[in-house]
Amino acid sequence: MTFERLPFDAETHLADVRMFQQEGFGAVYLIDDERKAIVETGTSWNVTSILEAVRTFGLRPGDIDALVVSHIHLDHAGGAGFLLDSMPRAKVYVHEQGFKHLVDPTRLVASARKALGSEEADLFGTMRPIPAERVVAVKDRDRLSMGKHSLVFFDSPGHAPHELTILDERNRCVYTGDAAGLYFPGDEILMPVTPAPAFDLEQNIETFRHLLTLQPRALLFSHYGPHRNPRAAIEAMMTAYPTWSRVVKEKLATEGESAVLRELYDMSCRTAKRYPRDFLERRIRVSITGLAAYHERMEHASSSR
Ligand SMILES: [Zn+2]
Repeated sequence: MTFERLPFDAETHLADVRMFQQEGFGAVYLIDDERKAIVETGTSWNVTSILEAVRTFGLRPGDIDALVVSHIHLDHAGGAGFLLDSMPRAKVYVHEQGFKHLVDPTRLVASARKALGSEEADLFGTMRPIPAERVVAVKDRDRLSMGKHSLVFFDSPGHAPHELTILDERNRCVYTGDAAGLYFPGDEILMPVTPAPAFDLEQNIETFRHLLTLQPRALLFSHYGPHRNPRAAIEAMMTAYPTWSRVVKEKLATEGESAVLRELYDMSCRTAKRYPRDFLERRIRVSITGLAAYHERMEHASSSR
């Protein structure tokens, strides 16, 4: 695994960590500026290859100043606590609501196991507690300057309440974490990602609206890579999210999970070639479970009003 330069920016690089053994799914970004930042840290399984990629690039892990995580799910922040061992200078930048979970990940890891099921959860790895003094709690519109590159953090709830999107003011690209869904390049598939326990449709739509106002040059997906037509991608997501939500609400109880899975697959993945059907279906299943939990929460809220 190596960092490759993005075509439209001299200092920003992308490495494929082969998350879940799949090529083109787990992206880790390196900003090689006066100060060095890594955006996203993969799962705990990806730590060795991230360190290797940093060395192959010509840096020492000790040169890294910042680890930025879009949110605290295990496939984004799982690697952070382990990477820090080799990165004595680095601090982890995380949404203020995620701070306490990085310091003590016990509840977070347990909740991921519950939401994913134990077989899927094994693939997501684990987490190591991070000393509080090495974690920086980020608020909406906080900034982090790397030199030429200045990052602006935006509170971006929907996928999770602790989700950030991050604008790089120099290249006008936005790191979307999981706030803008999943992008499968090559197959050009765009797909919602709506996991349990905390997905919220209304908030995610608000986040899409905010992303549009930024008029980004490209979206830098964590899954996976740059998308060069942000407006089209976000507008497609603004249609797909409510549609997926409605299909799960109307059909899950009556027609069952496999019927819903088939319908969502046909809706989103007709062009699949590079990505195996089984891999895409796993992603969809996680979202069906999350949408079911969301609808249950909504019903509960309205009946107890
Ligand atoms: Zn993710």
